Amino acid sequence: MDLTHRPRRLRRDGIRSLVSEVDLSASDLIAPVFVDATTDERRPIESMPGHERVPVDEAVTRVEEIRETGVEAVVVFGIPDAKDDQGTRAWADDGVVQRAVRAITAETDAYVITDVCLCEYTDHGHCGLLEDTAAEEPELTVRNDETLDLLGKIATSHAEAGAEMVAPSGMMDGMVGAIREALDADGFTDVPIMSYAAKYESAFYGPFRDAADGAPAFGDRRHYQMDPANAREAMREVALDVEQGADVLMVKPALPYLDVVSAIREEYDHPVAAYNVSGEYAMLHAAAEKGWLDLEAAAYESLLSIKRAGADLILTYFAEDVADRL
Ligand SMILES: [Zn+2]
Repeated sequence: MDLTHRPRRLRRDGIRSLVSEVDLSASDLIAPVFVDATTDERRPIESMPGHERVPVDEAVTRVEEIRETGVEAVVVFGIPDAKDDQGTRAWADDGVVQRAVRAITAETDAYVITDVCLCEYTDHGHCGLLEDTAAEEPELTVRNDETLDLLGKIATSHAEAGAEMVAPSGMMDGMVGAIREALDADGFTDVPIMSYAAKYESAFYGPFRDAADGAPAFGDRRHYQMDPANAREAMREVALDVEQGADVLMVKPALPYLDVVSAIREEYDHPVAAYNVSGEYAMLHAAAEKGWLDLEAAAYESLLSIKRAGADLILTYFAEDVADRL
């Protein structure tokens, strides 16, 4: 028996941390913030313990709480005061995200990223203009090219309010190019785009829909979000976004798609982000509540594995809790 090689030698206390391959730090994490124009008090989100929708007036306080844990960046989602078939409140100067971002950038030193999409602003809950808002056919889908103009308007209105980065999440073909063009035309050449490059039509988004009122009123998003079966297609999606000028490439969700994170890491030099989504958060909380999992350890291991797969940035509802303990 040849035991010249004993990997266990490097697993002893004192050496373990010296040979660890990846590290998690608070500066890797981005915390989602939900700002709600329909409420004047903070409202807990039942399926996401520890998270709340906050009124515009509380957005600064909420971000300050996050900053205190060491997390430096937030991604802002808005729940508007009114919805219509085009989602016009998404690019309104006095819209919920615009007001919140103005206050956050004026009063905190957080790095502010905004979600750019229409699903929280349209009365039908889809991520763009519908082909026929009256019909409820199974093949009903979003008008891609007409939606691009609106995404450009949303992104520039966020940049005008002070957003430092925009993150389009609607999976429209050409969205990164359209937003880049709109931002540049308005002088926002320095505002980077973090593209939801490979966003899957996932069952793990359930709790987020409680948080952001974002469930489609009918149908689903399988005509624009990716089929969970496809990894090669993700590489084509990413290539298109890179061509169009994406600065950061995101995969969403994270844990069920670590192969995709890893493949993008191998192929591209761009920073890679992964969105550890609401369902990934909620299921650990639910198991911990039953006493079946150690929440802290499972959360830390989840985020560490996302980094090990190749993500540089992680959007996660665990940001504050994990950063607090690092
Ligand atoms: Zn959307």
